[in-house]
Amino acid sequence: MYIDCHAHVFFSPFPTESVDMDLIGKMPTPTIDFINEMISNAKKKGVNYIIGVISNPKDFPRYQEQLERENIIHVIGISRNNALNDLSKMISLLKKEIEREKPHGIGEIGLDYSYGFEGLKENEKNVFKKRQQALFKSQITLAREIDIPIVVHAGYGTDRDIVEIIKQGKAQDVGGQIHGYMSKKELVSELIDMGFYFSFGYIHPKEEELQRVIEITPMEYLLTETDSPYHIMDSPKKFILPEDVVLVAEEIARLKGIKLEDFNKQIIRNARTLFRF
Ligand SMILES: [Zn+2]
Repeated sequence: MYIDCHAHVFFSPFPTESVDMDLIGKMPTPTIDFINEMISNAKKKGVNYIIGVISNPKDFPRYQEQLERENIIHVIGISRNNALNDLSKMISLLKKEIEREKPHGIGEIGLDYSYGFEGLKENEKNVFKKRQQALFKSQITLAREIDIPIVVHAGYGTDRDIVEIIKQGKAQDVGGQIHGYMSKKELVSELIDMGFYFSFGYIHPKEEELQRVIEITPMEYLLTETDSPYHIMDSPKKFILPEDVVLVAEEIARLKGIKLEDFNKQIIRNARTLFRF
């Protein structure tokens, strides 16, 4: 049995310019048929649980839809892409959804100082960074108020700010998941000491620095994910879907030198401990 610890099952349609048009397969659109098929294909491969992440306020109306699905563990939050919008308005929208049903985590939240920064002037970049930090801090506060873990996106160059904000906001009280981790190994033990789990996806094990990070991450703090639907550019080019967490698990279990069955059992145990289900 597998678990995909981070997937956007109810996702926004992709902006066409961000997708390589000769990708194999069709560009997913989040119709009910597509979502049903995605979940059932995953199930056929033994992916019995999916941590479903809704992190764009535009998709909040789909939270209710997601709540009605079995075997999806619900996470909701506001991603840093939205940081330039009205903060208090977004937080009150989020609170409304949380009142509907308490999620298992707040996410994905965090920082990214590269995506969306192209073409910005220096002062605009600073404003965007500050707004991302404010959004991150207010959602840590919210997670602590309702006592659920956070799901963190830690983009390139944001390591120190992530750790500082986590410490200042006392996010270690609730712990969380550093999702799709692609950064340095130096941060791993510092964040694990604060109750954070490290979650790795499909393309990552092929990178040497990341292999090192995976090697030093204790099995008790490791998670596997797809961040799907996600398009990869290596061969074959394709969209990663929750069913592909099988490939992620196989690759990381091999790196760790652990039998796949034992590996999967531990990953599910970790996810259950963190997200309390
Ligand atoms: Zn994501």
